[in-house]
Amino acid sequence: MPLANALSLLLDFVYPRPCAVCGAGVIERGRHLCWECWRDVGLIEFPFCSWCGDPVAGQVDNHYVCAWCRRRPPSFDRARSAALYDGPVQHCVKAFKYGKRTHLARELGALLSSCARVHYADEIVDAVTYVPLHRRRRRERTFNQAHLLAGFVARDLGVKLTDAGLYRTRHTDTQALLNAKARRRNVEGAFAVKPNGWARGRSLLLIDDIMTTGATVDAVARTLKGAGAHRVWVATVGRGV
Ligand SMILES: [Zn+2]
Ligand SMILES: [Zn+2]
Repeated sequence: MPLANALSLLLDFVYPRPCAVCGAGVIERGRHLCWECWRDVGLIEFPFCSWCGDPVAGQVDNHYVCAWCRRRPPSFDRARSAALYDGPVQHCVKAFKYGKRTHLARELGALLSSCARVHYADEIVDAVTYVPLHRRRRRERTFNQAHLLAGFVARDLGVKLTDAGLYRTRHTDTQALLNAKARRRNVEGAFAVKPNGWARGRSLLLIDDIMTTGATVDAVARTLKGAGAHRVWVATVGRGV
């Protein structure tokens, strides 16, 4: 083991990092969440809607499609989320996004990557892309959380990372405070792709941090499909309820 690695292992042991949620010491390398908090993560497992991935109570088969997707068929081919957006995941996403604790991209990215590996194992993904921020919000926040997460996923899957020429045509209100109908209206026509034809014929994995009604990822998927994308699969860290 190189000396620098040995030293860093020793330092991890002597000075454990505080868990991002509860503050307990974490000695595992590169981790920012203790095992106790990891245990509280509400991982999303079957049963869920086969299209949008929304968890459902009760018994359904693999082909079940929820009433929401039947009424308004989404433009994405499938969407899946790693965990429920509550408890430690909510805490970490907020700290990452609003508290600028960008080192949490690694923790959340690992969770997201394993979700993508499980659900899209049979698909050939040409590139990983992400929901763009409007340049005004990007400037305020100094980073795009979806971009950082997508970078982690792309590296982990060994797939190219691209912005796919996507951009926001206008500044939109934060989706969190709006109801389902207002969310759809808020992002309607809010995305576009540069006319470079990059998306044409490609199968893309679209990354975002949270998905609740799916209005944002659906609007982005519609834009990508409109630009000729062959497939758009979605993966998010959290699933809001
Ligand atoms: Zn903890
Ligand atoms: Zn659905």
